[in-house]
Amino acid sequence: MSALDRDLVIIGGGPAGMAAALEARRHGVQTLLIDERTSLGGQIYRQPAPGPRPPTREARTGRVIADEVAASGAEIRLQTTVWGATGNELAVACADSSCARIRARKIIVAAGAYDRPIAFPGWTLPGVMTAGCAHALVTTQHVVPGKRILVAGSGALIVSFAAQLHRHGANVVGVLEAATRPTVAAVTRLIAAGASAPSVLFAGARQFTYLRRKRVPLRYSHVIVRATGDREVSEAAIARVDRDWQPIPGTEETIDVDTVCLGYGFLSSSELTRLMGCAHFYDDSLGGWIPRRDAYMRTSVDGVYAVGDGAGVGGSLLAESEGRLAGATAARDLGMLAGASPTRTVQDLTRRVERLERLRRALANLFPFGTGVYQLAKPETIVCRCEEVTQAQLLAAIGAGCHTADAVKSITRAGMGYCQGRNCGVHVEALVNVPSGALAQDRQGFRTRAPVKPIPISVLAEERFQEDPTAREWAIAMSARQRTGRSSEE
Ligand SMILES: Cc1cc2nc3c(=O)[nH]c(=O)nc-3n(C[C@H](O)[C@H](O)[C@H](O)COP(=O)(O)OP(=O)(O)OC[C@H]3O[C@@H](n4cnc5c(N)ncnc54)[C@H](O)[C@@H]3O)c2cc1C
Repeated sequence: MSALDRDLVIIGGGPAGMAAALEARRHGVQTLLIDERTSLGGQIYRQPAPGPRPPTREARTGRVIADEVAASGAEIRLQTTVWGATGNELAVACADSSCARIRARKIIVAAGAYDRPIAFPGWTLPGVMTAGCAHALVTTQHVVPGKRILVAGSGALIVSFAAQLHRHGANVVGVLEAATRPTVAAVTRLIAAGASAPSVLFAGARQFTYLRRKRVPLRYSHVIVRATGDREVSEAAIARVDRDWQPIPGTEETIDVDTVCLGYGFLSSSELTRLMGCAHFYDDSLGGWIPRRDAYMRTSVDGVYAVGDGAGVGGSLLAESEGRLAGATAARDLGMLAGASPTRTVQDLTRRVERLERLRRALANLFPFGTGVYQLAKPETIVCRCEEVTQAQLLAAIGAGCHTADAVKSITRAGMGYCQGRNCGVHVEALVNVPSGALAQDRQGFRTRAPVKPIPISVLAEERFQEDPTAREWAIAMSARQRTGRSSEE
């Protein structure tokens, strides 16, 4: 195990992380950019698998930015996963299963987001997948996942996603939007807020019109309540829902499908900022647990900044602007902000972030999240897919006196598997917190623990790790710190 010292480490090479690296390098900051994937780009600039098909427009844009990052002199480490963090130290697992410890004077966390999972009967059947998964199949492998595809969820992206699938030749049999049809007032507010980024509004309108032209039915106030089939999904039961997304009895109907793509928005990957002890708050519309930040992207922990979808889901433009601002702030905090008018640079970047933040809020208001969707699971529905824990087992634990998500986890093992609660955590939290009427500020989630991402056991056990006694001490100190709960939420 080796120990590295760096001025600035950026975790995540999506639009936010790459923008942060470019900005920091502009000011001469020694910068290390880490990503667990094989190429830079994150979600939106995902690179295609090798093959004859031309890359998508997004992939081409991503490649140009990634080349700029490489040319900027930033050190780039791909296939490198940050699995632990304490203070200003990071534990990373590299592609060759070796382990490294990195000390950084400043850390920018730009870890992105993942699809918000919603458990309902049949959600574990083959053919039921997240929109992110289907998007990756189409954009990187050029594979359309089925012949009769239902897209269900909520938010601006499901329309654009359904249109993208259709363009790739998919038969999209319907799009279900759980929220009610947007009011004229909400659309007017969105248009006003969108003046700062008209391209976003035009792109959205184009996708919407495309689906209408292709006669793909878009139904508001509808969710999928059940997926059925022998070995894979063959039928979807859908129902009308109220404003809280609770199904209205007597409105159920069925559709023949072979694929269901679920796009209920995203949850912020805030595991690392939680592990570092940054203060967080809970907000469904932003993507769950969100690090508190000042206007310059600083978290409550000195030297740690959080940007992009991992600090509140807001799309690629906002992610990029926040990344640039954090890169400039880190340079300023290191005493390295360069340029004719450094203060002006930061002010301009702050104003751009504020404008895009207004657009994000207007979009979120268009499709307010309804917690009723967390009640779709039946007693026999598997909620924790890794440990195969059912809704009935979760409810039994709560009935037996487990009143926190962590207590339910300890008794049932929900959240202890490979995905570390990414699939079931939000559901368990809703079961525990929503019925008790817990306010957002009192809400409790799973305590985050290292490793936050799956890593080979050899990373922890192999000789190279044990050779370095300080590495062992560090790992022990980190787990002790977690036991005492110092890395928790507000
Ligand atoms: C299906 C789909 C369609 C979309 N369409 C649009 C669209 O049309 N327009 C739009 O504006 N936005 C769209 N988005 C959203 C857009 O992709 C995100 O807003 C944007 O990518 C966020 O950028 P980011 O840098 O914050 O995070 P990401 O792009 O998610 O990048 C985060 C990076 O961090 C890395 N990472 C995370 N954790 C670790 C770790 N522990 N160690 C090492 N690396 C780590 C990941 O590998 C990833 O590369 C779409 C998203 C999806 C899933």
